[in-house]
Amino acid sequence: MTVAAVQARRDSLAVRIGAVLVGGGAPVVVQSMTNTDTADVAATTKQVAELWRAGSEMVRVTVNNPESAAAVPRIVERLAMMGIAVPIIGDFHYNGHQLLADEPACAQALAKYRINPGNVGFGRKRDNQFAAIIDTAVKYDKPVRIGVNWGSLDQALAARLMDENHLRAEPWDAGRVLREALVRSALDSAERAVELGLGRDRIILSAKVSGVQELIAVYRDLAARCAFPLHLGLTEAGMGSKGIVASTAALAVLLQEGIGDTIRISLTPEPGASRTQEVIVAQELLQTMGLRAFVPLVTACPGCGRTTSEFFQVLAQRVQEHVRERMPLWKISHPGAENLTLAVMGCVVNGPGESRHANIGISLPGTGEAPVAPVFVDGEKAATLRGDDIAGEFVAMIDDYVARRYAREDA
Ligand code: SF4
Repeated sequence: MTVAAVQARRDSLAVRIGAVLVGGGAPVVVQSMTNTDTADVAATTKQVAELWRAGSEMVRVTVNNPESAAAVPRIVERLAMMGIAVPIIGDFHYNGHQLLADEPACAQALAKYRINPGNVGFGRKRDNQFAAIIDTAVKYDKPVRIGVNWGSLDQALAARLMDENHLRAEPWDAGRVLREALVRSALDSAERAVELGLGRDRIILSAKVSGVQELIAVYRDLAARCAFPLHLGLTEAGMGSKGIVASTAALAVLLQEGIGDTIRISLTPEPGASRTQEVIVAQELLQTMGLRAFVPLVTACPGCGRTTSEFFQVLAQRVQEHVRERMPLWKISHPGAENLTLAVMGCVVNGPGESRHANIGISLPGTGEAPVAPVFVDGEKAATLRGDDIAGEFVAMIDDYVARRYAREDA
């Protein structure tokens, strides 16, 4: 990252959300969102806990009816009993003012409110309902994310900007006008919230769109025009590799420029798949960019005609799963283990070289090579594994390395 990019992130205001600091140069925070019915306390608590265990540092839940609002304090209480203090963010649309007024325990239990100025209400009611939510935030000293969205853009504002555009000597194209409407909606709403008494250090902004180039353009503009911390996310990114690639393409450009203080990867999960994938992708994005470290990353070659079997793929997967499973414990018992680098390579062509660059690397035998697997530790050949339990022995070497290298000084 350039010096200017680092400075850009430091220049944003810092907002405290529970124990988490967002903006002001704090590390970029990973967020996620549940897809359970929030009124189902058991299911939502379980999913929040899963997301938290996967590494989500804030979790947003839908609050769309009296039942879900009533469930929020019970969810927060259950999480606390499980020793999970992750900030819970309430996502409100249309009736948020009413739900917050009717359920003060919900208003109190939430760590932050997320509102969309395009969905706060309609016509004249909108201003009053927006003000009511901000009043509640002020009363309970809660931060608010003002999150505008391409799909629910304030139509009156968009129409007004279109009219103004017609009067320009050189009118902008429609896309630029709509981007301006998104940015203006976020900025104007933030200033309105400040007028209503919300501190500038209690506001986070987002302006999500579903196109990569549009998202980059919108956030560059937003970052240049305000000091509020920004939540980044490509909305409706999609499923599987498409969602991951599109989100990564957009967010990486912005993060590299120092834009963005919290991120969410809005993946559509495969039916029945875990919601935690969006957390893992967000962490891997930040870690591969060198912005944060969460879990040891495994460098693995893609494999080719020189690999004799699937064994090396199986080993790479087992190693990655092993360190991810161990990391929550290592975080407490062996801080710093998240910086460990590992390599699993398929043959001698690049295997020993890549293995030497990692803290621990293994080079498996390729076609025609002797059935032995040299292991390198901090650049030196430390062992040669052979036989039926190469995977087990290699994983044991990783555990042993972590135990020695990252032992707590006060343990
Ligand atoms: S390290 Fe060996 S097995 Fe892996 S891609 Fe390179 S040549 Fe193929």
